[in-house]
Amino acid sequence: MKVNTAERDLLERELFLVEAGIRGERRLQKKFIEFYSSEPFEILWNTSLTLGNWPVQIDGLLLTSKVAVILESKNISGELHFENKTDEFFRYDANGVKTIMDNPAVQVEKHIRFIRMWFAENKIRLPVDGLLVFTALKAELCSLPKNIRTCRHHHMVELLFKTIEEYPSSPQQNRHVLKKYMKILEKQLTPYTQKPIAVQYSLDPRLFEQGIYCDACQTFNVSRQRRRWQCDACGKTSVNAGEEAVLDYFAIFGFQANNEKLRKFLNVDDRHLVKRLLSQEILTKDGSRRHSKYSMNKTGNLSE
Ligand SMILES: [Zn+2]
Repeated sequence: MKVNTAERDLLERELFLVEAGIRGERRLQKKFIEFYSSEPFEILWNTSLTLGNWPVQIDGLLLTSKVAVILESKNISGELHFENKTDEFFRYDANGVKTIMDNPAVQVEKHIRFIRMWFAENKIRLPVDGLLVFTALKAELCSLPKNIRTCRHHHMVELLFKTIEEYPSSPQQNRHVLKKYMKILEKQLTPYTQKPIAVQYSLDPRLFEQGIYCDACQTFNVSRQRRRWQCDACGKTSVNAGEEAVLDYFAIFGFQANNEKLRKFLNVDDRHLVKRLLSQEILTKDGSRRHSKYSMNKTGNLSE
């Protein structure tokens, strides 16, 4: 796994330990304990749902009698800025280095759209709203996105109550109906997998260096030669450098890969070679290594 400059430090410090990826989500759940309401509610953590071939992972889904609220956590530290004119999102780290990142508010919008459609298909009659929660301890929100409610995790519960207040009560949505909705959701959950690193940290795909990594000289110059992997820079051979790189791809970007994207990421021209890498059993394997958490359990998502 590899990224450039500022992001590289971040990743090396935190992300090589997969646990860091879920730290933010845990913080969110811990804070939610303070959500105490006499009104009925249900909460689902780490929800994975699909619409057709479109899979979505949602950190938290709160069902109340008035509205369903999507909770999306982001573990990004530094000074955070939303530039609403351009829809850009960027941060300044402790050293003043500016990094443009994927705008997490856009992702929440997408998830709201997804859940609205999912609810319509499954006859869940609740309006859908969303909340973007920044969970990093050293995060400063310098500006907010226009369309998506956003806060740091300390303010989450207050903002939740405020959000729910804005929706009218509906007498037919009682505890019993919410339980029924929960059953519908639980029945259709797909297995939750660790959220891709690029998504969790809003990293732009272009930040990641292309090529296959060589452990020996720490460059990205490994290629396939005579049925084995060999580094063009230092000559070291490897049994599985290509396979490792494919797993890195899934860890970083999630589970929807195609041959073209992988060729670009691996810097490999041979589509047949990439196809072979993708058809390996290792993608469904469970194990103790860090990659195994990202194993593909839905090979159907791998399209050409
Ligand atoms: Zn090398």
